[in-house]
Amino acid sequence: MTVPTPPQSVTVRVPAKVNVQLGVGGRRADGFHDLANVFFAVALGDEVTATPADTLRITVSGPDADQVPLDGSNLAARAARLLARRHGRRPDVHLHIAKEIPVAGGMAGGSADGAAALVACDALWGTATPFGTLLELAAELGSDVPFALLGGVALGRGRGEILEPLPAGGTFHWVFAVADGGLSTPAVFRECDRLRDEAGTGSDTAAVPDPQPDPALLDALAAGDPVALAAALGNDLQPAALSLRPALADTLRAGADGGALGTLVSGSGPTCAFLTKDAESAATVAAALTASGTCRSVRVTHGPVPGATVTGRR
Ligand code: ATP
Repeated sequence: MTVPTPPQSVTVRVPAKVNVQLGVGGRRADGFHDLANVFFAVALGDEVTATPADTLRITVSGPDADQVPLDGSNLAARAARLLARRHGRRPDVHLHIAKEIPVAGGMAGGSADGAAALVACDALWGTATPFGTLLELAAELGSDVPFALLGGVALGRGRGEILEPLPAGGTFHWVFAVADGGLSTPAVFRECDRLRDEAGTGSDTAAVPDPQPDPALLDALAAGDPVALAAALGNDLQPAALSLRPALADTLRAGADGGALGTLVSGSGPTCAFLTKDAESAATVAAALTASGTCRSVRVTHGPVPGATVTGRR
């Protein structure tokens, strides 16, 4: 009987997400907010390569590499430590992150790298962790990490970590406008609470109705209908992101004027998302956004795509 030799390196591709609906409930006693969060995985993503090493080490390449922490706080490093502890081994691995997802851009890039590192280390170490256990470990790392494992389209309840996969009836075409600099997710939630208090509606769970997924949005996704999906897009964090970064209104307008069916701030921003009719229309919207000079860079992509997946093994 031949014993399989362990791989010398494993590469995992992982998608970024856009929230096609982000319903934000009131602030709970623990400071978090209940969400009705419809996650959508797009082909724009990172690649994480795991190779054996004497000690845990992180390296990063890509346009935003200088903004990514290389120490133990990196979500990929935390994921490697968590998985190693679960299997009673040392997290002796080199993780290289080829970073395409904008950092602090509202596209869950750090969470994506955490999910990718779980999958890459599990394959490198031959630990064969059941998918359900990987999902539990992912939820320990952060609310957005389980979705990066799952991919596709899913409804996230609780803080976003309780996931229900949703049907999607086709491919949707997206353009993303990447802004200069990031926005801190906790700061955007605080601004959302502040705006609700200022408006006199209140910001706690007693004042804000429990967010619910929009049936029209779920139908549009299932039907693969971009016009209906565009009409139903919604992000309760958008007013807060615009309040902290008013210039994003110019970016949204430029994409709408360029022919996008629907526009929204992605998650907590500042990346802006534009849903288009088809691939050709996406190229036209991208050109209009580039010409507008209202963003740092423009990315054309599509989805839904699968979650963290092994794409290379040597
Ligand atoms: P979300 O949409 O989940 O709120 P985000 O996309 O706005 O997140 P991230 O790109 O995940 O933001 O980065 C948020 C912060 O997380 C960064 O400023 C950085 O300090 C930290 N961080 C930790 N690990 C990573 C990683 N692997 N890649 C990027 N940022 C990371």
